[in-house]
Amino acid sequence: MVFDILTIFPELFESVFRYGVLRRAIDRQYITVRIHDLRDFTEDVHRKVDDRPYGGGEGMVMKPEPIFRGVEAILERHNRPRDCVRAILLSPAGRRYLQEDALRLSRYQQLVLICGRYEGVDQRVADRLADEEISVGDYVLTGGEVPAMILVDSIARLQPDVLGCEVSAQKESFCKGLLEHPQYTRPAEFRGMRVPEVLLSGDHEEIQRWRDRWALERTRARRPDLA
Ligand code: SAM
Repeated sequence: MVFDILTIFPELFESVFRYGVLRRAIDRQYITVRIHDLRDFTEDVHRKVDDRPYGGGEGMVMKPEPIFRGVEAILERHNRPRDCVRAILLSPAGRRYLQEDALRLSRYQQLVLICGRYEGVDQRVADRLADEEISVGDYVLTGGEVPAMILVDSIARLQPDVLGCEVSAQKESFCKGLLEHPQYTRPAEFRGMRVPEVLLSGDHEEIQRWRDRWALERTRARRPDLA
């Protein structure tokens, strides 16, 4: 799967894909991440990507032309069938991102992620260029780069072979509509806190029952909207 990220701050991505599971996924070519500098798609000497909002008001708005040119260039360069590609505008006004979206988007061959900055992006990008708008939560960030990293991370780990053990992704929080059960490791006792006896028992059926019960109890207590 290929991720193309369009941003005015390419350097922000320099270290994020260099560690752990994502690095291994890139090294083994399970995923490809390409970062594109939006300013490379400007046509003026100042490489301007923003302008004042029509109607007045605070701050600057990202201009549509470099974003259209950037996304179109990315699509033309690789020329995949359009229904295998999804262009996504990161925006607090988008639909809230859930694990089921990560799963849905993991089935595309290529995702083009458009990172906004300033006061946001000219509406024509959402209306005519992006296939969808995604918000990573009900709060406002300074840019779409962190949301883009969230999408790449959550989608990449669902690609075949990326986790090494696909069962683990299927057992995690949200996969069955529940939060995951609590996890423990050694030592069995730490500062007076003991690991629940059942987990030390070796009785796998009993352990599974305990995990199912805790997944349900935790979800009911913390996320009644899910349970
Ligand atoms: N004025 C905008 C508003 O009130 O909705 C906020 C713009 S925000 C400061 C700048 C950029 O950060 C957005 O264009 C978007 O790309 C990104 N962004 C901020 N919060 C986000 C969120 N919760 N989800 C996705 N993208 C977000």
